[in-house]
Amino acid sequence: MFIEPYHNQQNQKRAGWIEVVCGSMFSGKTEELIRRLNRAKIAKQKVEIFKPALDTRYHQENIVSHNSSTIRSTPIQASPEILLLSGDCDVVGIDEVQFFDSEIVEVVNKLANSGKRVIVAGLDMDFQGKPFGPMPVLMAVAEYITKVHAVCMVCGDVANYSYRKTAAQEQVMLGETDSYEARCRKCFHL
Ligand code: ADP
Ligand code: MG
Repeated sequence: MFIEPYHNQQNQKRAGWIEVVCGSMFSGKTEELIRRLNRAKIAKQKVEIFKPALDTRYHQENIVSHNSSTIRSTPIQASPEILLLSGDCDVVGIDEVQFFDSEIVEVVNKLANSGKRVIVAGLDMDFQGKPFGPMPVLMAVAEYITKVHAVCMVCGDVANYSYRKTAAQEQVMLGETDSYEARCRKCFHL
């Protein structure tokens, strides 16, 4: 389990940092993001949460995990909007961060440089097992990385791939258990 880093409240100008939560579909990324954000709220920190506007699978505004935990969020068209909307908050959460373009890296760095804790969650690989969008760079610049795992739907082993069950070839195809399942390395390559 991720232990929140010690945050010295006495510091006049505190430094921020970046946390990445990554893994395949159904691995619990959104659950973990919501868990951390709720704990920050319990600590009376001001939290802002964003997601790319293109991901409206469950809800226009809320972030919803596969086990139905939910948190209010602001849908964003382009990553620089996050800088305008995060104002004086202490913690910024971003879900489905793989859908943003490479500009998101500068955005999260700026947020962290200005003293904020930034927690981003996203798919580290696409349906072909290739690194997804800005994730490799985000993982490089982050202070903390947590890789969470799903359960392989073929054999029950630890899964880190998102297997696409349809023939569609585009990288971004929104879908759920109808079109994707979590698989381990062996069953992904069957
Ligand atoms: P992610 O954001 O990584 O897609 P979520 O946090 O939305 O994942 O959902 C995680 C939840 O999905 C689990 O707690 C479990 O209830 C459910 N789930 C469905 N399929 C699987 C699977 N193959 N492996 C693990 N959890 C699964
Ligand atoms: Mg999710």
